[in-house]
Amino acid sequence: MYISTRGNFDKVQAAEAIKLGMVPAGGLFVPEQIPTLSKDEINSMIGLRYQEIAKKIIRLYMSDYSTDEITQCILNAYNENNFGQSIAPLQRLKDGTYILELWHGPTAAFKDIALQIMPHFLSLALKKVKADNEIVILVATSGDTGKAALEGFKNVPGIKIIVFYPYEGVSKVQELQMSTTDGDNTYVVAVKGNFDDCQNAIKDIFGDEGYNQVLNLKGFELSSANSINWGRLLPQIVYYFSAYADICMSGDIKAGNKVNFVVPTGNFGNILAGYYAKQMGLPINKLVCASNENKILTDFFDTGFYNRNRSFFTTNSPSMDILISSNLERFLFEITNHDKDKINQWFTDLREKGCFEVDRRTKKIMEEILWAGFATEENTLSTIKEVFESNDYVLDTHTAVGVKVYQDYVEKTGDNTCTVVTSTANPYKFNSAVVEAIKDKEALYGKDEFQILDELHLLTGMEIHPGLKDLDKRQVLHELVCEKNQIRVIVDEILQLK
Ligand SMILES: *Cc1c(COP(=O)(O)O)cnc(C)c1O
Repeated sequence: MYISTRGNFDKVQAAEAIKLGMVPAGGLFVPEQIPTLSKDEINSMIGLRYQEIAKKIIRLYMSDYSTDEITQCILNAYNENNFGQSIAPLQRLKDGTYILELWHGPTAAFKDIALQIMPHFLSLALKKVKADNEIVILVATSGDTGKAALEGFKNVPGIKIIVFYPYEGVSKVQELQMSTTDGDNTYVVAVKGNFDDCQNAIKDIFGDEGYNQVLNLKGFELSSANSINWGRLLPQIVYYFSAYADICMSGDIKAGNKVNFVVPTGNFGNILAGYYAKQMGLPINKLVCASNENKILTDFFDTGFYNRNRSFFTTNSPSMDILISSNLERFLFEITNHDKDKINQWFTDLREKGCFEVDRRTKKIMEEILWAGFATEENTLSTIKEVFESNDYVLDTHTAVGVKVYQDYVEKTGDNTCTVVTSTANPYKFNSAVVEAIKDKEALYGKDEFQILDELHLLTGMEIHPGLKDLDKRQVLHELVCEKNQIRVIVDEILQLK
């Protein structure tokens, strides 16, 4: 069963938690109890395929889904067509550090791991909770999440997805990734405004009870594909186990030995999944939380004081440019032994004052579990160059933040535990920064985005990810453009309400 971090909702089964996304009155769903695995059960994963490990983990959290249903979701998501040969392969650098490549999905970003399977969980959830209405997923995107959500939801029965992005506010590659998406339930709309305009319009629609009633009467219900949905977090626990099993298989560590995981962090979903894996019994020594110049989490873990009253930086690792890490609430709920009063206090403070401070005991527990650091944009570029020159291996900017913070961690602590850095994006997704790092800024002059893809290929010999290749030759299927005050009208038109 799933309970609310704020103690303000009756417990529900997985299907209901996934359908609702978040607790209606505020708060996030977490498992009432974290299932554990014995050493033997973990060792038995060595040599198994990713899909089999996924089945062993996911079923522990979804007792209202049959084994057949879970298997079907896994096969729909994690197949060769979507991910190629391996779902989450490891690469070993010369110094023994492992890189866990989480970007082999259709959009070249790690969000595919969750967004390829979550829509199937949701589609089944609708049947289980006997929701007759068709679900309409509304997404506001500044670029990346939109495509990952479109790919995940396309052609999933019982669901329509509408994505809004700022007109001329995303890269050409991102725009084409979205506008060439097929599927008979996908809609993409360019909004003449910025990301906040898209986001706010969607929030208004979600919050308008009258409008929601109209939608319900016409047979629709709104939902979101946010990273706070438990259905997005759960699939991420799996790759911690698969990475561990793969390292044991290679002989680098013996079963039972500990490993560290380094995680480039934004909304705290990825690293939280690592924490759940640890609580389930996976031998994790430290979780290293890596941030860019938006180092609100580094400061929080150092001081116990979370303060979003600070400047926001736009960096070359944009998916980590975040000042509110939503999933932190789940982590704090877990490490305070489900102290809903503390959580209510802290997150009310955060909403009202923009900051909160945890008690000493909580801070001490955080210190035992996590180590936090940050990297500047310059650090990021020099790390990409250094790793490329010494290993002939290309990092994207987010993963480079992780590698740099790991170097700092080793320097400060001397810890030589076997370590995995989770790699969250294919370097071609952030090709300009990567070309600048490996060659120089001049290499970008006068080139459009497609020429920069080719330049990176020339420099490194790395294959261009199939999801990014030949985008400019694909057929554009979505061309809707609207004014920022017309978003609701567009939703009406798409759903043929009028
Ligand atoms: C979303 C994202 C992150 C941050 O992950 P969280 O789970 O939000 O902490 C890091 N890197 C990339 C490339 C991402 O897309």
